[in-house]
Amino acid sequence: MHKSKWLVLIIAIGLALSVLISQLTYQQVKQHLADKVTLDVDQLGQKLDAQLNRYSKLPEVLANDPRLLRPLLADTPHPVAAQLPSTNHLLQQWSKTLGADTIYLIDAQGMTVAASNWQQPDSFVGQNYAYRPYFRDAISGKPGQYFALGASSDKRGYYFSAPLYYQQQAIGVIAIKVDLSLIEDIWQYKEIEYAIADQLGVVFYSSENSWLYRSLIPLEENQKQQILASRQYGSAKLDPLTQYSNLSEFNQRETSDIKLPSQNRSDTYVVASHDMAQAGWAIYGFSPIKAAYQYVIQAVLMFIVFYSLLCLAITSWWQTLKAQKALAQLNDRLEQLVIQRTNNLLETNQQLRDTIEQYERTQAELKQTQSELVQAAKLAMLGELSASINHEINQPLAAMRTYAENSRKLLQKERYQAVAGNIDEIINLNQMVADIIARFKVFARKANEAHNHTVAADSIRSAISLLRNRLIKQGVILRVGELSPDIIINADAVQFEQVIINLLHNAIQALTSAHQPQVGIVLEASEKWVEIRVWDNGPGLDDDQKKRIFTPFFTTKHDGLGLGLTISRRIIEAFSGSLGVIDHPGGGAEFVIKLPRSTEDNQ
Ligand code: ADP
Repeated sequence: MHKSKWLVLIIAIGLALSVLISQLTYQQVKQHLADKVTLDVDQLGQKLDAQLNRYSKLPEVLANDPRLLRPLLADTPHPVAAQLPSTNHLLQQWSKTLGADTIYLIDAQGMTVAASNWQQPDSFVGQNYAYRPYFRDAISGKPGQYFALGASSDKRGYYFSAPLYYQQQAIGVIAIKVDLSLIEDIWQYKEIEYAIADQLGVVFYSSENSWLYRSLIPLEENQKQQILASRQYGSAKLDPLTQYSNLSEFNQRETSDIKLPSQNRSDTYVVASHDMAQAGWAIYGFSPIKAAYQYVIQAVLMFIVFYSLLCLAITSWWQTLKAQKALAQLNDRLEQLVIQRTNNLLETNQQLRDTIEQYERTQAELKQTQSELVQAAKLAMLGELSASINHEINQPLAAMRTYAENSRKLLQKERYQAVAGNIDEIINLNQMVADIIARFKVFARKANEAHNHTVAADSIRSAISLLRNRLIKQGVILRVGELSPDIIINADAVQFEQVIINLLHNAIQALTSAHQPQVGIVLEASEKWVEIRVWDNGPGLDDDQKKRIFTPFFTTKHDGLGLGLTISRRIIEAFSGSLGVIDHPGGGAEFVIKLPRSTEDNQ
């Protein structure tokens, strides 16, 4: 799914859950408030009941005191002043002892004849309470209970009354007024408002002043009149606090909108009530529902924080999971790549090994070929040499034959001296042939048989003698420098000689059409090095040729092999030397051999 769609979904879920949580929290808190207010109201009711019970039986008990009859039985229609102070004192005494606000004595006409507050300016004495229901109840023979604003004190009070009998006839009423400010001491719950209402729903006691002497529900006109007549609540207008049609409907509500006349608005309260059947009241507790909103906001805020954190945690967990997956995939790919690369490497390695093997084989073959080539070149050269050897040997042989034939003739003529001379010549010639063959033998020797301490001059001379006939035949002038016998080289004599022969042979060949052809050979040495230069005054070599003449099979001759110089260079390099070519001053080519000088003496 697309990212933005996820976001919308998450926000939608969050909103739905927020609404749900706010609803649940609201219900919960409302329930909690209702429970609390019910409990508190019940407690208040019970405590109030207990307090009022303390006083409810008192008037009947006090009514039995005969001292109270005296002022009522006086002959005069009004109490005798002399007798009254003692009753007033008595009532004052009782009031103090019992913790009552006022205790007073009323005669049959409703006139107060004695009162505990007889000394105070708002004394009840002389007041007529005939209109008070508690008086009417008591004088008619039953104990009375009543709540009202004090007619003279204007203080709220609860009145208990009992009839005083004389000869089975009610001749007066004893009344106790209890100050209800005691409720304020009992009630400690600041956040909960309370109200005490009578049977009609008129609030006569409340923590909220603006509710006092107002009715919980609208009153009917006659009810209002009746209340006004009894002056129970003075001249209060008894405006309604709600618009419910009857009290039971009001009592069934969990929450109610109740006016706050002082602030000119309505507030919603969680309502609970406690019936005080005996007093005929109901205690109402009101807990403002606003408190619940606070909790709802808190809960929703907490949920939003929690939900955001959860979403963040899930997102990061999801990202981690994705990253791990990607990493695992990458790892797999990498592993595969490594395996593949390793295989490739192994293959390449194998190929390399094969190549090396092949290279070694080729090298071995090359070596073989090289030695075969050397041999072939040797043979080629030998073929050529044998022609000149033949020529050289044929001449002395022919001469020997001539000397021998001549000797036979001289023997017939008995010229022995001349025969002896001929025989000497034959011996000389024989020696000459032997020498020629001896030189030829040098080529037949194997290279490794030769020692490495070669007198350079000897090898040079030997090479020259082998080619002498060619030189003479071609009319080439040979210019040989000083050939010092002290110059010893670290090279095989036969191979070195082969190189010199090859160089001289090439020079002779280069001079076939030269004018005044010349070949030269120079031998020089420094302390460590020996230099042999073979030069000619032939056509020489251009730069391209100079680069190529040492590569195998490079030849400019129709019957050439192109191997002579290649092999020569190899031979010289095998003795740690070098073979190169330069232009000879005055034209022609000059081949330069450099070899290490042997420090050992020639043996
Ligand atoms: P080949 O003699 O069989 O041709 P070499 O390797 O001995 O083989 O010589 C290679 C080539 O070098 C010759 O064909 C020739 O062209 C050239 N060369 C060698 N020596 C000389 C020289 N002294 N003067 C001119 N060219 C030479």
